[in-house]
Amino acid sequence: MKIANINIDVDTLFEDALLNYKREELSDSLFKQMVEVTYNSILPRVLDYLDKYAIKANFMIIGRDALVYPEGVRLIIRRGHEIGNHTQNHYANFSFLSKEIQQREIIDCQNTIKSITGKYPKSFRAPGYTITPQILKILIQNSIDIDISLVNALPYLIIKKFYKMFIARNKENLRVQSLWSIFIPNSPRFLYNTAFMQYPVTNSPIFNFPMITSLLIHLGIKFRKILFNSFFLKKYLNCNLHVLEFVAAEDVEQIPFSLDNLILTRKYVHTKISDRLQFFDDMFTRITKNYKVGLLTEIRKEMLECLI
Ligand SMILES: [Zn+2]
Repeated sequence: MKIANINIDVDTLFEDALLNYKREELSDSLFKQMVEVTYNSILPRVLDYLDKYAIKANFMIIGRDALVYPEGVRLIIRRGHEIGNHTQNHYANFSFLSKEIQQREIIDCQNTIKSITGKYPKSFRAPGYTITPQILKILIQNSIDIDISLVNALPYLIIKKFYKMFIARNKENLRVQSLWSIFIPNSPRFLYNTAFMQYPVTNSPIFNFPMITSLLIHLGIKFRKILFNSFFLKKYLNCNLHVLEFVAAEDVEQIPFSLDNLILTRKYVHTKISDRLQFFDDMFTRITKNYKVGLLTEIRKEMLECLI
């Protein structure tokens, strides 16, 4: 049986603004408006879309956003999905921060989500996919069972570096993850002789391209057919989306901020929503036809049972 997981980072318009601006340049009220528009206007579109394919997904939540819009987090749970930890503040240089700050970022997010949903998240994604052995150990110490941060594809590392150097205006976070990661196996596995599962974002076998749909939309969705064919050769899929991929121009009109200054959102909006939905229709039709789609905790449980 082939197994797939769909995971969706709920990074808001504010995260996009941070590619061009420093935190201190953006007001608190703008931050709150951006979170509200993302949770109130864009997120429901994603939830309806997943219902169309009866897909249950993992939503990776930033703690500070959950505090602004807790009802959005509860809505995700009510619709049958699972919540994961995406740190409290989503620092782009997360893997380069001190161990103490990393610990605080992870624990604060655990506590924030517990205070809203009554449960601690069991899965984690680092901001910008930056994972290190030190961060993995912090996760294990805090009873998190699954990490989905690893993107170990050389083409991705190169694209990301290029993007940060030449397109994003905020040069504070130029460093990306270290090269060692490309040598790690790309299938889910248990680490350190424990029941902690690392489930890397799937790379296509031929092009070694990661299954990050925002990247596919940015590079041009007309290439999707070639890539989809190679992704679907894999036994396990870890498919990563971002809520902002479902943004519409009207969403941005609700906030006092120019679309021109939102690098990712501008690109999404410029790809017609009908083309984007066609892209997702193709992908989800093929995933649901060829894979059993599961939540991360279910997949881990099944894999553990297979080991016994
Ligand atoms: Zn993120």
